[in-house]
This record gives sequence, C-alpha cells and structure tokens, in this order.
Amino acid sequence: MAKKVLVVAEVRDGELRNVSFEAIAAGKTIADGGEVVGVLLGDNVSSLAESLIHFGADRVVQVNDAQLKTYTTDAYQQALLQVFDIEDPEAIVLGHTAIGKDVAPRLAMKLNAGLISDAVSVEVEGGEAVFTRPIYSGKAFEKKKVKEGIIFATIRPNNIAALNQDANRTGDVATITAEIKDLRTTIRDVIRKATGGVDLSEANVVVAGGRGVKSQEGFGPLQELADLLGGAVGASRGACDAEYCDYGLQIGQTGKVVTPDLYFAIGISGAIQHLAGMSNSKVIVAINKDPEAPIFEMADYGIVGDLFEIVPILTEELKKS
Ligand code: FAD
Repeated sequence: MAKKVLVVAEVRDGELRNVSFEAIAAGKTIADGGEVVGVLLGDNVSSLAESLIHFGADRVVQVNDAQLKTYTTDAYQQALLQVFDIEDPEAIVLGHTAIGKDVAPRLAMKLNAGLISDAVSVEVEGGEAVFTRPIYSGKAFEKKKVKEGIIFATIRPNNIAALNQDANRTGDVATITAEIKDLRTTIRDVIRKATGGVDLSEANVVVAGGRGVKSQEGFGPLQELADLLGGAVGASRGACDAEYCDYGLQIGQTGKVVTPDLYFAIGISGAIQHLAGMSNSKVIVAINKDPEAPIFEMADYGIVGDLFEIVPILTEELKKS
C-alpha cells in the first residue's frame, strides 16, 4: 500500500552524509509507490535540498535555525516533532548513526511508535515493509515489521544502496519554522581530533589494527595502506585499551559498526565483540601470525604471518598497480 515516508537527512560540516541517500532508497521501498519526503535540519541547509531530490526524494521540507547548526538532542527532537506533526507521515527513516541512535528512540517514544533499529535491508512483502536486522552481535538476522502505527526505522550505513543520482529530477522545497526553546544543552564549539580524513563509518576500505600491532607507531604502516586505498584506519578494542590509538577508531559491539567493501583485520584475533562491528563487510582480509586465530573463520582471504613483514610488502605491491 502506498505510504508517505519521511526521511531525515544527516548533515555534517555542511555536507550530506551518504546515509541520507541510502535512507531515501529505503524510504522509496517502504513508500511502495507513495511519497518520499526528505527532511533537512540545520543552520543554512537550503543548498542541500536539491541533492536529496536528485537521489530520489519527491520533495523536501527544511528547518533552518541557528540552534540546529550542531546536533543536540533537544533541538532536533523539538524540530522533528513539529515537522512530523505537520507532515503526518506513515513511516519515518533515519540513519543508524550516532545521531539516529540518540534521537530516534526518543522520537518513537513521543509518537508512541515501535522502533526497528539498525536495519540492513528492507523489502515489501504482501504490501508490508519487512526489515532485516542483525541480532546476537551479528550472529543471526531477524525479520521485523510494524503491525500498527507509524513505521519507524533506522538503517545501518553502507548496507542499502543509494539510488542513482538523477540531476533532472525536480521537487518542491518548503521551509518550516519550528519553535525551538528551553534547550538544556547548547554546543558552543566543536573541537575535532585530526583524523585521516575518510569517515570510518562510511569508508569503502577499512584497515583495522589490533593488539598485534603492538604500538602507536605500529599503526603508521596501516595508515599508509589505508591512504593508498582511499580508506580509513580502524582498531580493535584491544588496540584502543592498550592506548595504541584513539577510542574513536574502535570497531565492534561497543564501538563503530562498519560495512566497507574491503576490511583488513591486521593483528586482530577475531573476538565476537569485534566481529559484531565488521562481519557484514563485503570482503574480509585477515593478517595474523596465529593460524588458529578465529578471525580466519570469518575472513575471505587469510594471510598467516608477521604483520610487520606483510603489510609493507602489500603496500609496495599495491603502489605498483
Ligand atoms: P588480541 O585478542 O590480543 O589479539 C591480537 C592478535 O594479534 C592475536 O590473534 C595474535 O595472534 C595477533 N598478532 C600478534 N602479533 C602479531 C604479528 N606480529 N603479526 C600478525 N599477528 C599478530 N573488542 C572490539 O574489538 N570491539 C568492541 O567493540 C568490543 N566490545 C567489547 C564489549 C564487551 C562487553 C567485552 C567484554 C569485550 C569487548 N571487546 C571488544 C573486547 C574483545 O573481547 C577482545 O578482547 C578484543 O577484540 C581483542 O582485541 P585484539 O584482537 O586486538 O587483541
């Protein structure tokens, strides 16, 4: 049955994150011939509306407000609830990102809706949207659908392919003025640690190191490999706990979830909590000196050997190609 679906886009540093386009693709499926409305929140985001339409939104509603420049739970919640009130959608989709994970459950509660979180795919069966989501740290998948009320879902980045961009698509862009008041938190300044440049959650190639990397300096060759492949460096919790790298790089159950096309697990044993964050990667390459390391059960390609010898050889060979 055709539905009206609201897709909340995600903006960072004035740019749309890829998950916004993936969420539109999910929205299209859920809409089942109905309308997909992109929702843009920010300080001055009008220039981004067109992209949402090019990637499949039928129209866009935006809220431009200085209080939405940087994400805060209160401001986003207030603005989105007012947009939902005006639009009265049958379904709402957000990315399963730090923002989505924070605001979606609160919104769902306010709307008295159930929340299907972290969906990796969605399809329509018998006229109903059916979502697939991982359970037991990615060991199994379950299918879920909403029986009554608003369909509310967050989608895992890098799993649902965005639609092809069509620069000829057109659609209305409307501005809503939301009343945002009594904020408990305001962001005065954002200070970011310098990172390799590629966003780990959205990277197509991830070069992850574990405790086997043995030091902060040991991550240098991994960064070189990542740079060469246009990817990002990640880490196991073992490496973060040993202070070889920042916790912002941690992948796994209590870290980031990544789904790149290519994942290197270097000096990582393959604990279940680590697998929870990367097992959906399309191709996994493991480098470990222990042939019994559990990561080899998950890997598509395994290299048994000393990472300090193998990574530089790999990098040199890739430089030639
Ligand atoms: P290790 O298990 O110590 O493995 C190091 C590997 O490096 C070994 O396999 C070894 O053979 C190999 N190695 C050593 N030297 C070399 C060399 N020179 N060349 C090649 N290989 C070498 N972990 C996560 O990663 N992410 C999480 O989000 C996470 N959440 C957790 C949540 C909970 C509640 C708990 C209890 C644990 C969590 N953990 C998480 C920790 C997890 O259980 C493991 O302890 C951790 O993943 C181990 O990290 P590691 O593989 O780097 O280290």
